[in-house]
Amino acid sequence: MIIDTHTHLYLEEFNTDRSEMIQRARDKSVIKVLLPNIDSSSIDSLLQMSMDYPEFAYPMMGLHPCSVKENYKAELNKIEKMLNENKCFGVGEIGLDMYWDKESIEIQKDAFITQLQWSKSAKLPVSIHSRECTNMAIDIVEQMQDGAITGVFHCFGGSLEEGLRIKSLGMYLGIGGVLTYKNSNLKNILLELGYENLVLETDAPYLSPVPMRGKRNEPSYLDYILESLSQIFSKDKQEMEEILYLNSTRVFPDLV
Ligand SMILES: [Zn+2]
Repeated sequence: MIIDTHTHLYLEEFNTDRSEMIQRARDKSVIKVLLPNIDSSSIDSLLQMSMDYPEFAYPMMGLHPCSVKENYKAELNKIEKMLNENKCFGVGEIGLDMYWDKESIEIQKDAFITQLQWSKSAKLPVSIHSRECTNMAIDIVEQMQDGAITGVFHCFGGSLEEGLRIKSLGMYLGIGGVLTYKNSNLKNILLELGYENLVLETDAPYLSPVPMRGKRNEPSYLDYILESLSQIFSKDKQEMEEILYLNSTRVFPDLV
């Protein structure tokens, strides 16, 4: 049993074959997926998909750091309303991004802190995006961590030191396609970190694993990540799958 803990299957990239794509996922043991939101424009399609595929697609609610612009307070108000009015399974995706936009980092931090507060009051796990500023995101979580923050640093591609800090905060690392890329040192880092805090994710339609790199990503491809993790930790695939499933249910207990 596999849970894809971060996947944008509600995007239009999947409009022509969504049901077939989900069937392919189910054929590869993917039983549930978590849908992270982007901003107010993606809410309708995200909630619609979770209604169309109940017991399979579960909504999260949040404002993505790349959508934090001058109007972010109004965006946050809309998203908080949606979070309160709908059964959500996480606050995401939230965080910081220094790759696409360094200028807005101060308002990104403000939006991130606000949404971490929501996760605490709603007792929901977070899905954190931290491109090119993982240490900064960890600093913020560390300052706010009183035992009430749980969740995943999604698409982890950081250093061993960052991984250790995340682990000591009681948080998890989302592992996906990056693991299979030749120029990535992630395999060695994970070997040092261990598998206790790892969960699977695609971030589909982005970040397809080798040998699908460059194509649209989808949850059935998690099989490649599972294969790679079982080689790294010298476990058989079945055992690795069970470990990762249990890890995911510890972070997202409302899924079971
Ligand atoms: Zn994402």
